[in-house]
Amino acid sequence: MAATLKSKTGGDGTAQYDVIVAGGGFAGGTLALALAKLAPKGFSVALVDAAPREAGADRPPDARGLALSAATKSLLEAIGLWSVLAAKAQPICSIEITDSPLNASLRPHFLGFDEEMKAGAPEAYLVEAGHLLHAIDAAIAKETAIALFAPDSVEAYETDAFGVCAKLASGKTLQAPLLVAADGKRSRLREQAGIKCIAWSYPQLGIVATVAHERPHHGMAVQHFLPAGPFAILPLTGNRSSIVWTEEKARGQALMTGSEEAFASALTRRFGHRLGAIALEGPRQSFPLEFQIARSFIGDRLALIGDAAHAVHPLAGQGLNIGMRDVAALTETIVETLRLGLDIGSGVTLERYQRWRRFDSAFSATVMDGLNRLFSNDSVPLRAIRDLGLGLVDRAPGLKRFLVREAAGATGDVPRLLKGEGL
Ligand SMILES: Cc1cc2nc3c(=O)[nH]c(=O)nc-3n(C[C@H](O)[C@H](O)[C@H](O)COP(=O)(O)OP(=O)(O)OC[C@H]3O[C@@H](n4cnc5c(N)ncnc54)[C@H](O)[C@@H]3O)c2cc1C
Repeated sequence: MAATLKSKTGGDGTAQYDVIVAGGGFAGGTLALALAKLAPKGFSVALVDAAPREAGADRPPDARGLALSAATKSLLEAIGLWSVLAAKAQPICSIEITDSPLNASLRPHFLGFDEEMKAGAPEAYLVEAGHLLHAIDAAIAKETAIALFAPDSVEAYETDAFGVCAKLASGKTLQAPLLVAADGKRSRLREQAGIKCIAWSYPQLGIVATVAHERPHHGMAVQHFLPAGPFAILPLTGNRSSIVWTEEKARGQALMTGSEEAFASALTRRFGHRLGAIALEGPRQSFPLEFQIARSFIGDRLALIGDAAHAVHPLAGQGLNIGMRDVAALTETIVETLRLGLDIGSGVTLERYQRWRRFDSAFSATVMDGLNRLFSNDSVPLRAIRDLGLGLVDRAPGLKRFLVREAAGATGDVPRLLKGEGL
């Protein structure tokens, strides 16, 4: 697709922008919109994405329901996306956590967040991934400050003291002071920049699907810690829930390739009968699960955001919320640098972004990893210890309020856009 934007074109046909964002998914698309809407007038964004956008060339289906924190909601509000999504977003009103073997006839409640979550506005919402991507794509299509290049990709880039020059697969050449890698877990730009990761694969598969059920969920999210991994039931609008089912890899693959009946029977065994009869709505989908933290979130005139910078276990539904913290922190850093008339791609600017985001992301990823290791096993002594821990947390209202605020993205050095403040 051709750029629709005023861009200064050099004599050699190279188009000049203020930033090039490679990857127009959740993180890259949101960053492009945030900069287009909140940076000083005249700021221009080149957004390069591998997925086609023409009518009839839809993105691949994504069966995930995404838990979005209140902080992420604030960012989406600031860039005009929440008003489009609000009617399709299900507030999470309470959370229940259980820890039991798969064959347990009852899954006793160990930890619940009910009163703590009723205290104020909802701290999290469930939004279907397809709805969020569609809202981002539609807003980008209308945004005159964004030039979209899709399907296309950055094949190679070079930097000098003044900027970065990116060569696209289509043969186009783009220039800007800063290049942002938002091209996901397998980021080509991260590789090209020679940035290594601390990474390992989990011996688990993440299975997702939408389930329709007879009775209302009343906004309750349930996390069953089962020996193979957590099984989450997350409320969607209507009498529907999204499941995130972490399963041991070989068994997960067998479930994905087996019959619908076998899948439904294994699903019912984990889902339980509290919400009445259940039926699958749409396809089941699976994702490999990995831990991954880039050793640096920046390179020469390069910033990494979203899964290109970090990938975390989905057990607490935090991966994209952490990515949205990157988006908000980088937007704030860029806007403040522009106001001072300084270079947004300089080492000083990028170091500020990295200091803000790298430790926080690594900490969150490590906590998710630790929880997965602690809970995804059938060890009797470990079960006794963790159940004692869950029981103690359940009796500590102050700690529970803190955990709810942590899940809402309201703790730590929170960027202004995540607190509902202007830039
Ligand atoms: C099972 C599961 C459940 C999850 N649930 C939640 C949840 O409830 N809440 C939550 O916050 N997070 C959740 N996550 C994490 C979340 O899905 C990711 O963090 C999020 O998708 C990352 O977004 P991203 O934009 O960084 O990367 P991606 O979604 O991977 O997007 C990358 C984009 O880059 C483009 N691209 C790729 N390569 C190139 C290239 N070479 N050139 C140009 N473009 C390119 C792609 O087309 C795509 O648009 C879950 C993850 C899994 C696996």
